[in-house]
Amino acid sequence: MSHWPIGIFTSVGAGLGLPLPTAVELGISTIQLHAPKTDSLTDEFASELISQLQESDVSVTCLFAGFEGESYEDIPTVERTVGLVNPETSAGRHAELKRISDFGKLLNVPAIGLHIGFVPHDTTSQPYQDLIGIVRDVCEHCAANGQALHLETGQETAEALVQFLNDVDRTNLHVNFDPANMILYGAGEPLPALEMLGSHVRSVHCKDARWSDQPGKTWGQEVPLGEGDVDMAAYLKMLKQIGYTGPLTIEREIPEEPERQRAEIGHAVELLNRLKQEILG
Ligand code: MG
Repeated sequence: MSHWPIGIFTSVGAGLGLPLPTAVELGISTIQLHAPKTDSLTDEFASELISQLQESDVSVTCLFAGFEGESYEDIPTVERTVGLVNPETSAGRHAELKRISDFGKLLNVPAIGLHIGFVPHDTTSQPYQDLIGIVRDVCEHCAANGQALHLETGQETAEALVQFLNDVDRTNLHVNFDPANMILYGAGEPLPALEMLGSHVRSVHCKDARWSDQPGKTWGQEVPLGEGDVDMAAYLKMLKQIGYTGPLTIEREIPEEPERQRAEIGHAVELLNRLKQEILG
């Protein structure tokens, strides 16, 4: 694969990402795929998807897990509903995540990604230890399927995430870096965070956002790539500095406005191609 292939966060069926046929029309060669719903995690659906992907000549670089009942409505709701932290939903999701990994094996994907939720701050607490146990078990399951596990950034500061990665201590546990999430959640300036995470970063989202006036309390605002507080040229330069050569996966989650989503992602592809040329030469 060439340096920094452009990718798009894509959905099949309903989902937050761009529909697969629209992504293909935009001429990209890689996608991250939002995992289909539980009842579609079947051999039959995998075969159907494999033919669609082969026809389109697109490869899936990361299969992104999401779970029933997750809501990104506001930051407290994310804390309660997203990922593997809430004990009311963690056992079921832990099992489902392994099913998603097995489905990913059918598609031959190299990585499973997800938001694990807000990592508990007290590293000596039982909830923190419980989360470590779940993530270790999922890492081992992914390893047996030939996959890495990529944790999406945003909810934690880079320091807390590095600490968590070190505490889990599994060689196939890495980071999917999303600069906009650092801003949206008020978790820190994205570029120093990227520098600190360095070689842990094995996949990235290209997404933009503006800071909230109450960072960490209320959402910042997601905006089209190049219009927010992520300096995209500086972002790509930092990716080069840390030695990242993987896909640049555009994420723009406005599925309720498909025309606008398609147009904005089209502009993002152009912007990234131009910056790539400037920075890589
Ligand atoms: Mg993201």
